Amino acid sequence: MARSRPDTAPYEVTQPRSRRERVRAEAVARIPWWYNPWGHLAFPSCVGLGLIAASIALLDRPTAVELLTVPLVLVLANFNEWRIHKHILHRPSWPLELLFWRHTPEHHMIFVRDDMAMRETKEFRLVLIPFYGILAIFLGTLPVTLGLWFLVSPNVAALYVATSMGYVVAYEWLHLAYHLPMANPIARTRLVGWLRHHHAVHHTPELMQRWNFNVTVPLADLALGTIYRGR
Ligand SMILES: [Zn+2]
Ligand SMILES: [Zn+2]
Repeated sequence: MARSRPDTAPYEVTQPRSRRERVRAEAVARIPWWYNPWGHLAFPSCVGLGLIAASIALLDRPTAVELLTVPLVLVLANFNEWRIHKHILHRPSWPLELLFWRHTPEHHMIFVRDDMAMRETKEFRLVLIPFYGILAIFLGTLPVTLGLWFLVSPNVAALYVATSMGYVVAYEWLHLAYHLPMANPIARTRLVGWLRHHHAVHHTPELMQRWNFNVTVPLADLALGTIYRGR
């Protein structure tokens, strides 16, 4: 049976500050007492960097052609980021509805273009993907890794894991950086400022369903014509 999709139109309107503050207070109140924001940041970072180190250790004199895996996976991951953001984070899709509910009605309601900053480290919870996300991605793509290992070469499989895990870590770090308060030196770097602008436009409720779906580098947005050019 076809599932009826909830209408996302009510979320596509900038809400009065009082309503946004209420949603924020409720979301912060739901954070469990044992929540550790630095642990939430450290876990995917350590898993990702650990898998990158292990993959590099497995490399055995990769050829120039095998090294092409790195740019190829970076481009594919960028288009995948666009697709997942547009079709899973902005539309409830079984069985990943949780990601929609945490993103469109919550992350986008709390942070809007002119109010992008987290107010306390506890709010990492409102920005980062669930802590086990990187493990789920590694395990979910294991058939691809094994296919590359046995059908192409162990070097290509190792480069695939290193690049895809590096991409996930970069996504988490960059998205967190865009939502840092401007007093933070990382938030004031040129690179973060430029990339944050692209994401901040996406944080305009009226634009979020159609524009600026890349969170890292806006390559797929450029190729697919979804960079917002209006004012
Ligand atoms: Zn965001
Ligand atoms: Zn979004």
